[in-house]
Amino acid sequence: MKIIMLGAPGAGKGTQAKFISAKYKIPQISTGDIFRANIKNKTELGKKAKSYIDKGLLVPDELTLDLVTDRLGREDCTDGYILDGFPRTMKQADALTWALQKQGTSIDFAIDIEVPDEDIIARMSGRRVCPKCGATFHVEYNPPKQEGICDVCGEKLIIREDDKAETVKKRLNVYHESTQPLIDYYKKADCLHTFDGTESIEDVFAKISAVLDAAE
Ligand code: AMP
Repeated sequence: MKIIMLGAPGAGKGTQAKFISAKYKIPQISTGDIFRANIKNKTELGKKAKSYIDKGLLVPDELTLDLVTDRLGREDCTDGYILDGFPRTMKQADALTWALQKQGTSIDFAIDIEVPDEDIIARMSGRRVCPKCGATFHVEYNPPKQEGICDVCGEKLIIREDDKAETVKKRLNVYHESTQPLIDYYKKADCLHTFDGTESIEDVFAKISAVLDAAE
């Protein structure tokens, strides 16, 4: 099962991708997480990516495509995967389609989670992440048991640089301009499934599961 997640930053792609990955036993490949790991480890890729990410811009396609191609070639991807945060541009979508076509296959599901911009801004300003293990929380919707502390590993939670208000607005503009056209792209490919991301995390996951289960 090969799945991609679409939707604005903060729509809940990562959260749903984690659930899908656990239930259907396929790896979750988050380009954002891979970039953040590279930034943390101060790799060459990390240094290049950071300058774009901190400004709310997309990392250039050349850097992103190499990274994804390399990751999809690993053994754990043979039975499928869930791409969380990729593709984000038409060029990336085309590259993915061609790469899969060469293997005689295609994306099975494009899951689009829709949330209005106002809700996204409210959500992201309350988002907190663990710099150590990557767990995410929200001060209002998904608070940690102890304020400011990660439930999983006990580390102090932080606000991601790119979750700050001005950067969020920039990211939403970039989303509407570069990524939203992919909704139409995958609609034409006949694999688009749209979900209302303002519903509870559990309800959205139940609806996604129903679609995926029906195809199994
Ligand atoms: P995310 O955690 O998915 O919101 O990603 C965080 C940031 O990483 C984005 O705002 C982009 O700057 C960068 N990024 C992640 N995925 C991609 C991608 N497919 N193409 C370009 N930039 C990306």
